[in-house]
Amino acid sequence: MQTYAGNESHRRFPLIRLLLILGVIAFAVWFAPRVLDRTPPSLSVEGLEPGGRYRGVVSIAITGEDSGQGLDMVRVTRDGQFLAEIRLQGKQARTTYPWDTTSLSDGVYLIQVELTDASIWHKSSRAQFDVIVDNTPPEIALLSVPENAIQGQTISFFVKSDETLRKAEGSFLDRKIPFFSSGTRMRTFVGIQHNANAGTYRMEVRAWDLAGNENVTQMQVVLKKGDFKTGRVNLSQKKRSLLTDRDKKQTNRERRAQALETSSSRQIWNGLFKKPTRGVTTSTFGARRVYNSGVVRSVHLGWDIANRKGTDVFAANDGIVVLAEELPIHGNNILLDHGQGVFSGYAHLNEILVSVGDDVQKGQLIGRMGTTGQSTGSHLHWEMFVQGVPVDPAQWLTQDFRSP
Ligand SMILES: [Zn+2]
Repeated sequence: MQTYAGNESHRRFPLIRLLLILGVIAFAVWFAPRVLDRTPPSLSVEGLEPGGRYRGVVSIAITGEDSGQGLDMVRVTRDGQFLAEIRLQGKQARTTYPWDTTSLSDGVYLIQVELTDASIWHKSSRAQFDVIVDNTPPEIALLSVPENAIQGQTISFFVKSDETLRKAEGSFLDRKIPFFSSGTRMRTFVGIQHNANAGTYRMEVRAWDLAGNENVTQMQVVLKKGDFKTGRVNLSQKKRSLLTDRDKKQTNRERRAQALETSSSRQIWNGLFKKPTRGVTTSTFGARRVYNSGVVRSVHLGWDIANRKGTDVFAANDGIVVLAEELPIHGNNILLDHGQGVFSGYAHLNEILVSVGDDVQKGQLIGRMGTTGQSTGSHLHWEMFVQGVPVDPAQWLTQDFRSP
């Protein structure tokens, strides 16, 4: 036994040595990198912006990367108070923390995200954000200028709020109405169809503050009949044939509809509009027209000003040229975008002096009067559109649409 024991201890010695060597290797493989990894992990946080406004449950996306020993833990605090600890594994990982702000009072909070790696040093990276919690909907009020809607006229609506709004959207006469500009006041313009039914309608507006809180308000709007005249127009045989030429009518309509499709969201016009030429008014907006003993009836959706061929035609206000070409019905036609869905048009010109894309100023010479297209004599057909609806240009000469 002793001999054997002696023999065993003699044999055990290299075994212990082997274990020791293995231990050192294991230590080197397992522990050394943890000791050597002295680089903090990289951290990126999405869903929070310094100074940003938040409501409800905010999804904070946290992405970490550590090329050494890998990631270990994410810790989220609010004003130094513990909110959550989330374990992250591997060299690269992503997690989302749903920060519930609903029980907090509105105000400023400091959110800190700290990510540690798996090294024995627990190297960490931090990101912090001063953010505003706002769970209170904006107080909003709705006003119109003028007070009533009138067939063929423009009505503007204002949303006033106790805080800055991000967006407001209205619904009126079955149409979706976008609001423009921001701040505590937003505005929109609505063109009332010349043939809209008189009556009382509801304008409903939804508005969102910067944190995304929503509020709704509404008002009753009385829509009144317009005061339209009836006139008679005599067309030559050649001009009359245009009235029945469907292809030409369609081309004419499509080209203009395309040009009116998009409008700058900023107000380009400046102050009241200016009558674009001099001459005699031969037809006003909304006039019911009877062609050649009542064969064709139509409604005149512009303002006709007659003068000698070649008379100067000016831009009624600052704008951008969105159409400048010859069309079968409107002849040489210019359309200007004044922003926020407001356009003006100049038809039957003898000459076009601007090109699409040009910036024009109020009072700038843009063309010369003529009788091109479907026209009975030298005149300017001046028109205006609001969100695609033809409206009476005369109103824009005197109506101040600024906030009441
Ligand atoms: Zn006309």
